[in-house]
Amino acid sequence: MSRKFIVGGNWKCNPASMKEANTLLKEWKKSLPSVDKSKVDVVICPPALWMTTLSPAIEALGMQTCAQNVGKNDAGAFTGEWTAANLLDLNIKWTLIGHSERRTKYGETDADVAEKVAKCQEIGVNVILCIGETLEEREGGKTDEVNKRQLAAVIPKVKDWSKIVLAYEPVWAIGTGKVATPEQAEETQAAIRAYIKGAVSSDVADKLQIQYGGSVSPDNCADGQPCGVRSESKAVEGLDSTQAPPPSSPLPENCQLGAMAQGDTFDEVDTSSKVKANRYKSQRLDFCQSREASCWASILELITKPNIDGFLVGGASLKPTFMEIVSKVGPSKMVDMWPKFEEKMKKEGLNDTAIAAFKYTYGVLVSGADVMIPESKLDPVEKLPEYEKLREKPDPRLLKKTLILKLNGGLGTGMGLEKAKSLLPVTQGFTFLDLIAKQVASMRKEFKTDLKFMLMNSFSTSQDTLEALSKYPDLGTGSDLEFVQNKAPKVTASDMSPAEWSADSSHEWCPPGHGDLYPAMLGSGTLEKLLKKGYRYMFVSNSDNLGATMDLKILTHFVQSGAPFMMEVAERTDADKKGGHLAKDKAGGLLLRESAQCPEEDEKEFQNVGKYKFFNTNNLWVDLAALKREFRRNDGALPLPVMKNGKTVDPRDKASTKVLQLETAMGAAIQCFEGASALVIPRSRFAPVKTTNDLLALRSDAYKLTEDFTIVLAPERDGVPPEVKLDGMYKFTDAMEKLIPNGPPSLLHCKKLVVEGPVTFAKDVIIKGTVTVKNSSGTSKELAAGTYEDKTVEL
Ligand code: PEP
Repeated sequence: MSRKFIVGGNWKCNPASMKEANTLLKEWKKSLPSVDKSKVDVVICPPALWMTTLSPAIEALGMQTCAQNVGKNDAGAFTGEWTAANLLDLNIKWTLIGHSERRTKYGETDADVAEKVAKCQEIGVNVILCIGETLEEREGGKTDEVNKRQLAAVIPKVKDWSKIVLAYEPVWAIGTGKVATPEQAEETQAAIRAYIKGAVSSDVADKLQIQYGGSVSPDNCADGQPCGVRSESKAVEGLDSTQAPPPSSPLPENCQLGAMAQGDTFDEVDTSSKVKANRYKSQRLDFCQSREASCWASILELITKPNIDGFLVGGASLKPTFMEIVSKVGPSKMVDMWPKFEEKMKKEGLNDTAIAAFKYTYGVLVSGADVMIPESKLDPVEKLPEYEKLREKPDPRLLKKTLILKLNGGLGTGMGLEKAKSLLPVTQGFTFLDLIAKQVASMRKEFKTDLKFMLMNSFSTSQDTLEALSKYPDLGTGSDLEFVQNKAPKVTASDMSPAEWSADSSHEWCPPGHGDLYPAMLGSGTLEKLLKKGYRYMFVSNSDNLGATMDLKILTHFVQSGAPFMMEVAERTDADKKGGHLAKDKAGGLLLRESAQCPEEDEKEFQNVGKYKFFNTNNLWVDLAALKREFRRNDGALPLPVMKNGKTVDPRDKASTKVLQLETAMGAAIQCFEGASALVIPRSRFAPVKTTNDLLALRSDAYKLTEDFTIVLAPERDGVPPEVKLDGMYKFTDAMEKLIPNGPPSLLHCKKLVVEGPVTFAKDVIIKGTVTVKNSSGTSKELAAGTYEDKTVEL
């Protein structure tokens, strides 16, 4: 059943003066004039002496005032106490009872707590009853026992359960910055509800609101550690972070909040001590790697748990950001909407990993977390290892443990194709898929090994692709050859609900971006299967990049570096300045910044190719064991940055409902792996075909198809591709074919070719330098055979 959300702010004996308290309330007013009471109740617990003075300002915010304590006595000779009746007299309708600080610092017993509750029940004061175990009790496995004992003392005194809210507050998490993981909190709160069900009734248990309390703050992550401590590289207690653990050493006992299970071992490490140290670094679990978005996602994760109905917040309720918890989390779309998304995804047959991945991205969307990466949070990457300077001796034995994966989820719609883009003929009648199949066959021959190859298809490319590849049976078949990308629900832009389109329900779904590679591998069982078969390393690239072939030198460098993840990057030129770039966060970790993540005022620096020198080629190397660990560590969903694309639900009907499509990018995973690295590669490994401009260039003599079916730039080009800029009318491939009925012109010595208007190229046209061909007549004209050099030709 759905229960109303309730947030409490327990100020304790804070702030230092009432002036500061007033300032805080004014700050809150600025960020949120009033709480939406239909969705969330908020109670604020100021120090007792200030309650009546501050009450009007608290109520003006749509909140209620709550005492932190109450006496167990009636009126009489009880110096220093106040009664439940006194509270009501002052129109204070709420009080905390049994806070752990009352229990541990003032010796309040279960019996005292019960008497206080009884007095409040008599008089009709609402109670937030705090229960929870100490660290010693948790470690002794006594959590449920303690909670039951504290509840059992109170239950007989309660006649009206509508006036009781429970706050489960693990004492070890109060004021310590440690947060129970969403799973720990949910498990305990589910046990509390089950106990109430048995001891009182199902109806009471169903309706009872149970808050979670203990260091809830946008500054804390759900793995129990504060955000931003990544930079401090806190090691697991008892282990020196600069030294490798012994092979197969178990996780330290105290690592209970991490995502690896007790009994798990560090992977066997097999090379130099640097490798061991790096690998160990990437396996450390005891500090929060996540950034702000991830912290918000943790809070959202907590409140989406079925038995968590709000928070009791201590320290963080003394900050302006408390209003963010109230305004963004309290009446959260996550609470309202998530169950609908979950149901829709389950009905569609999507697996738990796909659901967890979307839950993360949706959580980030509705959290309102700032996804921008300003200059102030970055440093440029000055130097990186370069391909040409790699000195490692290529080790062919590694090929047996390596998988080549091609991303093949995209449709060629942008180039006028209604099927998999890789079915587009590229050169000499071969499609991308033909060339990939031939490249793999040739690599197998070259390396004399049965190199493992797989594709990640999407629901729209799988069938076509498998059909086309049936003529290459050696490549593999079925789940040995492919796994299929997930789909994600589109989100209605106006209210964040799942988009509906009864005219064609397939429009309610979209691909979740190639960042889905990771959850799709996990959820389809492919990751586990590969690991079991002894595959440890994966080289992944886009199927439209024919330059991305297996390179033993790079593989050996990757494995020997011990990095869990490595990105091939290329040097940015002016032509790449609008695209994303590699950078370092202030802790030295590598990350990508896409243009959508750059605040407007930092655009100039973003485009400064002298400062941010490298871009991601999407040729990635992944240690599959490290990937598995990251999933465990992040509860099954990698915290990738989320991009939102505004579209209409039916892409062809611009008047249809406005939706948001949430996507993640696979390269962004570089920030999820501690110790991830990058390698500068020659441009020849990056030859993607995104447009007919690229395709025309690729078909020309500026490129050569090698014996191993790789397409490389002709040596005369000195590593620089020609720039082709065709008129918009040639956007689709069939139109481009009409432009070059006799094949492409020679571009071997062309710097830039621009075509404006309807043109056909005669046979034997040679373009040199920068040439513009113009026809403004509206009827197609032919460019005659001959050499054109550094000129504009008007037809
Ligand atoms: C509390 O005192 O109730 C509490 C939850 O404190 P904090 O959030 O500071 O841990």
